[in-house]
Amino acid sequence: MLDKAPDGKMSDLLNALDKALSGGEVERAVDLFQTDCYWRDLVTFTWNIKTMEGKEQVRDMLKARLADTKPSNWKIAEGEDASETDGIIESWIQFETEVARGFGHMRLKDGRIWTLLTTMSELKGHEEPLGFDRPMGAKHGAERNRKTWKEEREAEAAELGYSRQPYCVIVGGGQGGIALGARLRQLNVPTIIVEKNERPGDSWRKRYKSLCLHDPVWYDHLPYLPFPRNWPVFSPKDKIGDWLEMYAKVMELNYWGATECKKASYDQKSREWTVIVQRDGKDVVLKPKQLVLATGMSAKPNIPKFEGMDIFKGDQHHSSQHPGPDKYKKAVVIGSNNSAHDICAALWEAGADVTMVQRSTTHVVKSDSLMELGLASLYSEQAVQSGMTTAKADLIFASLPYKILHEFQIPVYNAIRERDADYYKRLEKAGFLLDYGDDDSGLFMKYLRRGSGYYIDVGASELVANGSIKLKSGVDVKKLTEHSVILTDGTELPADLVVYATGYGSMNGFAADLISREVADKVGKVWGLGSNTIKDPGPWEGEQRNMWKPTQQEGLWFHGGNLHQSRHYSQFLSLQLKARMEGIPTPVYGLQKVHHLS
Ligand SMILES: Cc1cc2nc3c(=O)[nH]c(=O)nc-3n(C[C@H](O)[C@H](O)[C@H](O)COP(=O)(O)OP(=O)(O)OC[C@H]3O[C@@H](n4cnc5c(N)ncnc54)[C@H](O)[C@@H]3O)c2cc1C
Repeated sequence: MLDKAPDGKMSDLLNALDKALSGGEVERAVDLFQTDCYWRDLVTFTWNIKTMEGKEQVRDMLKARLADTKPSNWKIAEGEDASETDGIIESWIQFETEVARGFGHMRLKDGRIWTLLTTMSELKGHEEPLGFDRPMGAKHGAERNRKTWKEEREAEAAELGYSRQPYCVIVGGGQGGIALGARLRQLNVPTIIVEKNERPGDSWRKRYKSLCLHDPVWYDHLPYLPFPRNWPVFSPKDKIGDWLEMYAKVMELNYWGATECKKASYDQKSREWTVIVQRDGKDVVLKPKQLVLATGMSAKPNIPKFEGMDIFKGDQHHSSQHPGPDKYKKAVVIGSNNSAHDICAALWEAGADVTMVQRSTTHVVKSDSLMELGLASLYSEQAVQSGMTTAKADLIFASLPYKILHEFQIPVYNAIRERDADYYKRLEKAGFLLDYGDDDSGLFMKYLRRGSGYYIDVGASELVANGSIKLKSGVDVKKLTEHSVILTDGTELPADLVVYATGYGSMNGFAADLISREVADKVGKVWGLGSNTIKDPGPWEGEQRNMWKPTQQEGLWFHGGNLHQSRHYSQFLSLQLKARMEGIPTPVYGLQKVHHLS
């Protein structure tokens, strides 16, 4: 047989797929897949975020969705070439459906599809006004009583939510709500973002004063408007706050600061929400069709209950409310993840005597090692120099199915363990309890599975290793007295401050607060993959529970995650909302079942 270059092999496969799918021949299409195949679809076929694992699931999905979707024009993406490494041929691909244009990625193993990513780029007839289609801005010509851009913006701001209802209300104006709001604005979906803090960026400004982003700049861009090339690698929290404030303004978002959402209820008949918000001291009733909770997945504090909390005379607060180290002399920080480390280090810098109480193991990884071994190929200056764009990096990451993602991660963290072996030994010698994830797959899997259990070391671990931050590990708090914390091993730690760095609860807790317990239980736990590892109970879900996709409650959506996820998934959530607004049929395939309430 002729040895065709990767382009030829990929094109042959795409032509065969095109032919099978346009002919409605499901079996012929399924035959083009490997036995251990993965098809991850972001909205194009399923109107859902869903991974089909194995031929049977691919077959079931195609049987249910092929006739409606009418895919066509499968080809190697314009300007791209396929490549071959270690027998795997891969390429960027493009295709169309009846209603949308799609972009994706395909990997072939032994001439058949191993991984396929299909994502929706745009809805036909509802494209974003970009490039050649950008708005004119100025209206040339002459017209009596014409309005300026400013007057039009002011008129919109005055009427939206009062004389004209928004199609969508986003509760929470952190970076998640802001990124989604920007995309919806470009898609012309009337939206109000409701934020209880005064200004965009306050959710960062109000955190403890030493906080900087733990992820580097290349990972953190917002949609449309990347950080400039001289932006620092790790943004200090107040600087990211200012960027968000600027962004909300220039992206022309209808951002209602100092406005708290108090209550929301859904009318099944009118398929409309009633959302009560308090703005300028007055209740305003909003009637959107879609309600997005972007209230933060690290935002609903888990506060433990210990005997004696009511009699403790010093200050005690959850890490999210910790103001900073300045006025304390003896501090006890309960917990050993990111916030605990940052807060302990800041207290030590301010001269306090600080003890960290570590109840169970923590995964620690040096920031440098994570950047060089974990992120550099996709998100780094070297990656930028070699032509990697943020959009492509996001899509490559998305193209690795969650079911096998840990297999790609384990070697990375093994290499980090080897490189930093002395460092880990010193931490263990200080009594620190380490883990590397349930299956040694490290930080990112922990984040996706449970959103906790790790520290990206930006300096505090050295203080733990050399004893500057005192450590009590393998113990819990027994009780508090008026001036101390007593641990389960009998140790008494005098304290004028106790910080509970004990993490955050599932986002459906916000649905319970704002809508009802019944709706919170109906949609179930938010976040996690069902990996059956600690804090991520099975069964296997294949995607993150309830994030950026339809939930069991019509018209209710959850959005958020880190800056990378908010940037990437806001595209697919915005397209799902736009399609609904335009009345495009959006039959959801494989709506997730609920297995856990929180
Ligand atoms: C210590 C720490 C370090 C982190 N470091 C990073 C990092 O380096 N990189 C990264 O990407 N992520 C990081 N994160 C995760 C971080 O939480 C998210 O990236 C980011 O804050 C999430 O944005 P968000 O908009 O989803 O939520 P948030 O920023 O939490 O915003 C939610 C908003 O909802 C508002 N809200 C809640 N309820 C209501 C209501 N009823 N009415 C009106 N408004 C309401 C809140 O006031 C808040 O402003 C870190 C988190 C923590 C805790």
